[in-house]
Parts: sequence; structure tokens; C-alpha cells
Amino acid sequence: MEKLSQLHCYINGEFVASTHYFDNINPVNGQVIGQIAEASPHQIDDAVQSAHSALNGEWSKMSVNQRCDLLHKVADRMVERQQEFIQAEMADTGKSLHQVSTIDIPRGAANFRAFADMARYHHGETFLTETPLGEKALNYSVNKPLGVVAVISPWNLPLLLATWKVAPALACGNCVILKPSEETSSTAFLLAQVMDEVGVPNGVFNLILGRGSQVGDYITQHTGVDGVTFTGASKTGQHIMQSVAQTVKPISFELGGKNSAIVFAQADIDKAVAGVARSTFTNCGQVCLCTEKVYVHRSIAQAFIARLTATAQQINIGYPEDPDVLIGPLVSKTHREKVLSYYQLARDEGAQFLCGGGVPNFDDERDQGCYIEPTIITGLSDDNRVNQEEIFGPICHVSVFDDEDEVIARVNNTPYGLATAIWTENLSQAHRVAPQIDVGLVWVNTWFLRDLRAPFGGVKLSGIGREGGKHSLSFYSEPVNICIKVD
Ligand code: NAD
Repeated sequence: MEKLSQLHCYINGEFVASTHYFDNINPVNGQVIGQIAEASPHQIDDAVQSAHSALNGEWSKMSVNQRCDLLHKVADRMVERQQEFIQAEMADTGKSLHQVSTIDIPRGAANFRAFADMARYHHGETFLTETPLGEKALNYSVNKPLGVVAVISPWNLPLLLATWKVAPALACGNCVILKPSEETSSTAFLLAQVMDEVGVPNGVFNLILGRGSQVGDYITQHTGVDGVTFTGASKTGQHIMQSVAQTVKPISFELGGKNSAIVFAQADIDKAVAGVARSTFTNCGQVCLCTEKVYVHRSIAQAFIARLTATAQQINIGYPEDPDVLIGPLVSKTHREKVLSYYQLARDEGAQFLCGGGVPNFDDERDQGCYIEPTIITGLSDDNRVNQEEIFGPICHVSVFDDEDEVIARVNNTPYGLATAIWTENLSQAHRVAPQIDVGLVWVNTWFLRDLRAPFGGVKLSGIGREGGKHSLSFYSEPVNICIKVD
């Protein structure tokens, strides 16, 4: 069994040492907790080649049910080892125990079960064709795997977002090269161990570790990679799009967001305050779906803003293992610098700070970590940079609106289009407003409530394509039309 402190690539069923490693840093106290391999081009070639061999070998001979049964075993083994997954995810990200044990790890295992079950019933189409000249044919389609799929995943929900793509890709019969974020490679490494333990054939699942700037282009430009599915920043997505253009690979992109919450006069204010606090501060604001702009109707604005601010001030920040702690640190010092630069920009643009705006002081080792204060600001226009650019930290800007058309136009005034949460008890209002928002996902009186069968993705800078349910099965398969003449 490999030690967690040194993370190696997993290629063709073997954990292989690399010549270069870089430090894995715990964001709670800034301490080095291990070393992460930087894959060489040669190792990436090996991974791609082994994936192709597996594609033409044992993996392709397994029936859909055998394949999906094996993916259930992956989920079962993840559950058996869930304490290790929980500890590893907390050490890499500083997320709270509550979040990791209720969201990240269980949803990671659930992805394998859900997509394995969906893939069993993934069927083709059949048409009986009759031409005007009297010819007849039977047209049907069979779903083939795309081939070798590169899964490139981010640090904010490491295991959950990697498995959200690895699971349907494998269920559809593909072989996978997983490249997790360099900030959070530990649970991907544990996943490789699980694949090995349950007997996933060699080459079907490969883990390539390393920094995106070092190994990313080599993966996405590789002629042996048949498709790229990516979750991460919009800028990286733009870069990958250029990278894959040479070889015209199919892509699926889940990118950044600048998400709003709308609190109508008809909202249940208790639910809205709790819901907006959750959608702003969960995971220290590091969920692509988090709210960064809040629009509240003038008639309830004063009461709502006072209560939201009081809720934010009561958030317990601290050690991730403490069961009472809601949020831990940001993921890294670099990311904290970025978020703090937006706190400063907000000041420069003339924002009023209702709470937060700085770094908490603990007078212990956590002062060497990446903690930051939950922050609420107001007073900026929709066109200020702070209200246009994704910050990805525990901050929201609150502003007041007067009518429905006005707020819809203001919410849509962003280059992003991922998610919006609407708070209202008026059902007609919810049905009327939701389809007018230019996003991939609208929540009404809730947030982050997901069904793996539902389409997920963004518009504008927030992404290309949809995954989830039949949309995932469709991306990870290539339907082939077979036409048989009937005499
Ligand atoms: P990132 O784009 O910096 O990195 C994501 C992944 O891409 C990492 O594995 C990284 O190593 C890799 N990468 C970097 N450069 C690359 C290159 N040139 N070629 C190939 N791969 C490369 O994103 P991040 O900072 O890890 O994650 C935060 C971002 O992800 C935020 O913008 C957030 O909104 C977005 N996100 C979106 C969703 C969604 O579902 N839409 C979900 C989670 C996060």
C-alpha cells in the first residue's frame, strides 16, 4: 500500500515514481504534509497508450452489467475507506468535517452508483425508413465509448467533481486519464488505490499528477486523447479550447460563475436569510455555484440585510475537525491573495463593508494558514469589477431592487451564466422569473440541491455542454448509425 505522504501517478495498474515532486501544503497552518509527483511527458504517453490497450482489451469485452457491477464495487470500497478519504480531503482543502463527511465523500461514492445504474439502460434509437422511391431500411444506432477521455478537475470539490466525470466516462466504456488539481491530489490518489483494489483492469483508470501549467497542455494536445472534460476557471477553459483545436476533440466545460440570489418581497425571510448565508459562505465561498451578488426587494431590504449580516458575523471559523466549525480556511495562500485583492478592490471602488473584510487573528498556528473573514459589502454598481468578476471567496455584495423586470435585467448583466437562487413564496412569480434568467440552473427556495439525473452546466463564460443523467451518457458515448437495407 502506498503512503499518502508521497503521491505517485498510477499508470497501467502500477503506482510509478516520478523524477520531480512538489510540496503539498495544509491550508490550516501552512505546513508541508507531503509531496506530489509531477508527471513527465513520457509517463503521460505511457498512460495514454495503456488506456488505448485497455480499450481494445478486457474492458471492451466486459458486458455493460459487468462493468457497472465493478463500478458499484468502487463505490462500496470508497465507503469502506471513507475515513481515509475524509481525512485526506480535509488535509488538502481545510474544509470542515461537516462538509466533507456529508457532501464531498458520500457524493463521490454516489456518483459511481448513480452513473453505473444509468448506463445499464443507455439505449440507442431505431427507425424504420421508407423512401419516396419505395426503398426500405432499418436504421439503428449503437453507443460506442468516446475512447480515452482526459478528466481535468479543480480543487474546490476535489473528489466529488473528479468522480462526477470519471464515473459516467467509465460506465460508458471509456478509459480515463484523471488529472486532479495540484492543490488537492490526495483523494484522487486514494481513488486510484480503490480502482486497483477492486480489480479495475490495468490501463482503464490512470492518474496523472502535476501542475496544470506543466502537464496540462501535453494531455489536452495529445493525439491519443479522444475527448476532454474539464471543470475549472473560465480562463483555463479558453486556453484548453485552443489546445484541443488542433486535434478537434469533443469537450465538455464546467467553468466559473458570478451567481446571484434574488430575494423577493414575497420571500419567507427566515428561509431566505439562512439560504443566502449558506449559498454565500459554504466551503468558504469556494463553490462554483456560490452566491456573490444578492438582490433584495426594497420593502424588506433593511430587515433582510441586518439579519444576513448578523448571521455572517456568527459563523464559526476554525479547525476543520471541530464539529461546530462551519468554514475553514481558503485552499491556498495564492488564492487568499486573490480574494483579498478583491476585498481591497471593493474598498477602492467605494464599497461599504457591513462585516468582515480582512483576515481573522487566532494567535496560534492558524495565523500561518489561509483563513479569511466572511464578508458582506454594499454600495457598488452592477458594473463595478467586484460585481462582474468571479471572486471565489466568502463574500457577497447586496443591493436593492424595485421590480421584477429590473432585477432580471440586472442579474443577467454578467458575462457568466451558471446558477441563480430565487427566494419567493409566490409560485407564479418563481415560474415566471426562472426561465428568464440566463443561466444553466435556477434554484427556488433552495440552493445546492442536486439530482444526478438533471442537466448541469452553464451558459456564456460558465461553460459548454451539459452533464448529468442522459447528458453525461451522451457526452461520453459516440452513437454510430447502422443502416440495413430491407428488400
Ligand atoms: P483552474 O482552471 O485553475 O484549474 C482546474 C484544473 O485545470 C486543475 O487540475 C489544473 O491543474 C488544470 N489546468 C490548469 N492549467 C491547465 C492547462 N493549461 N491545461 C490543462 N489543464 C490545466 O481552476 P481551479 O482554480 O482549480 O478551480 C476554481 C475554478 O473552477 C473557479 O473558476 C470555479 O468557478 C470553477 N468551477 C466550476 C464548476 C462548474 O461546475 N461550473 C465547478 C467547480 C469549480
